[in-house]
Amino acid sequence: MSANQVLDGLEPLLKKYDVYGPRYTSYPTALQFSDAFDQDDYLTHVVASNDLPVPKPLSVYIHIPFCKSLCYYCGCNKIVTHKTEAAANYLEYLVREIDMHSQYYDGDRLLQQIHFGGGTPTYLNARQLREILEVIAQRFHFGLPDSLEMGIEIDPRTVQGNAFDELMDLGFNRISIGIQDFDPDVQKAINRIQDTESIRQIMAQARARQVKSISLDIIYGLPRQTRQSFNETLDKVIELRPDRIALYNYAHMPQRIPSQRLIQSSELPGAEEKMAIFLDSVHRLTEAGYLYIGMDHFALPEDSLALAMNNGSLQRNFQGYSTNADCDVIGVGVSAISRVNDSYSQNATRLSEYRGYLDQGQFPVSKGVSLSRDDAIRGGVIHELMCSGQIQFSEFNARHDVFFQRYFKDEMAGIAKLAEDGLVACDEASLRVTDRGRLFLRNIAMTFDAYFTQSDLQNSAQPRYSKTL
Ligand code: SF4
Repeated sequence: MSANQVLDGLEPLLKKYDVYGPRYTSYPTALQFSDAFDQDDYLTHVVASNDLPVPKPLSVYIHIPFCKSLCYYCGCNKIVTHKTEAAANYLEYLVREIDMHSQYYDGDRLLQQIHFGGGTPTYLNARQLREILEVIAQRFHFGLPDSLEMGIEIDPRTVQGNAFDELMDLGFNRISIGIQDFDPDVQKAINRIQDTESIRQIMAQARARQVKSISLDIIYGLPRQTRQSFNETLDKVIELRPDRIALYNYAHMPQRIPSQRLIQSSELPGAEEKMAIFLDSVHRLTEAGYLYIGMDHFALPEDSLALAMNNGSLQRNFQGYSTNADCDVIGVGVSAISRVNDSYSQNATRLSEYRGYLDQGQFPVSKGVSLSRDDAIRGGVIHELMCSGQIQFSEFNARHDVFFQRYFKDEMAGIAKLAEDGLVACDEASLRVTDRGRLFLRNIAMTFDAYFTQSDLQNSAQPRYSKTL
C-alpha cells in the first residue's frame, strides 16, 4: 500500500482512536509494578536466567538523571542542576551497582548492548563515561568489537567543541540526538534553545567516525507549533537525512508533570491542527523514503531497524525498538528498569533513596513484577504485534502452549472491530497488522491488555497514560 493510500481517509480513524493508553515498553506496564517486589525477587530471576539451557545475552542500560536546564515539556525522571560534583558522586554509586550486578551473572554470558539514557547522559564528560565503560569491561564478557552495540542519547547543547570527538573516541556506534523542533519560537516556548548548525556539525562528525546509526528525535504538538512551522522543521530533518527518526507526540499532562505548567495551554496547537501536523509528518517522511516502523519510529530502508522489521528480528525494550537479539536487560542507576528472565524490576526513583539502598549494600530495587503465565502470554502477543506486525497462530500456540482463538475468545469482538476499520486482518492462521494499522499499534495492543480499564480510555481529568496519537 502506498503512503497516500495509507493516509487517505485517515482523519475519522485518528479521531476515533485518539484515546489514552500505554506505550507498552513493557507488559505489564510500570503502573502494575509492586512495592512487594524486592532484591531477593530480582536475584531469584537472575539465577533462573543463568540456569536456562541457553541463557540470553545481556544488555546494560545506564540512567544518568542530570540535566543542565529544564525543558518544560519533559516527563522524564531527571534532576536539573549545575553542580557537577553531584554527577561525580553519582558515578561512585553507579560503579558500585555495576559491580554488584556482575557478581550474580555467569561470567561467560555475552554482553551485547550498552545504552546510556537520561536525563542527559552527556551531562557526564568523556572521562566520566570512560570510567563507567571501563568498569563494565572489567566485570562483563564482551564478544568481538563489532558485535557490541553502544548507544547514547545526546543533548547537542552539551557537546560543543572537542567534547563530541572525545565522546566518539569511547566507541559509541549508535547516537540519538534530541532536536524536538527547529523553530526558534517553539524552542523558546519549551525552554530548549539550540541551533541547527551545531546539529549539522555533530552529524557530520559522527558520520566521519563511522557511527552506524544516527537518530533524530522530534516532537509534534508542542506550543507555538503550526502546520507551516513544523513543515519547515521537517524540511531540515529530511535534508539532514538521519538513519532513523523518532516522531513523538507531546503529551500535555500538567496535573502529573509540574514543569508542563510552564507551558501556556493556549499556545498548544488545537486538536485539528495537531492531527494535521501528524499526518503531514507521516506523509512527508514516507515520501522522503523513510519506512514507518511503528510506535513513532521511522528508518531508512537500509538502516538495521528497517532490515530487522523486514526479516522479523525486531525487538522492543525501554529504549524503544532494537535490532539486538532478545537480551536480559540490566538497568543501572536511579529509576532504571531491569528486565531479567520473567520479571521487571525498577530501581528507586529518588536519588537519596537510591543511594540509601547501595549504602546498605543492597540492590536499589524498589518495585517490580514477576510475570504470571497470563502476563507472559499477553506480553508475547503485544510484543509480536509491535515488532513483527503479525501473529502466526500455530507458532504462537506452540511457543505458549495455548490455542490462540480460544484463549482470546473475549478479545475476538475487539479484534473484529479493528478489522472493520482496516487496522488488522485476521483469519484461521494469523492476525496481521495492516499498513494503516501500524499507525495505531498502541490501540491494537490495548485489546490484549488485561489491566487496562474502560475508565483509562477516556479519563482526561486524571489520565494514567498519554494520548495514543
Ligand atoms: S528533555 Fe532531556 S534535557 Fe530536557 S529536561 Fe528532559 S531529560 Fe533533561
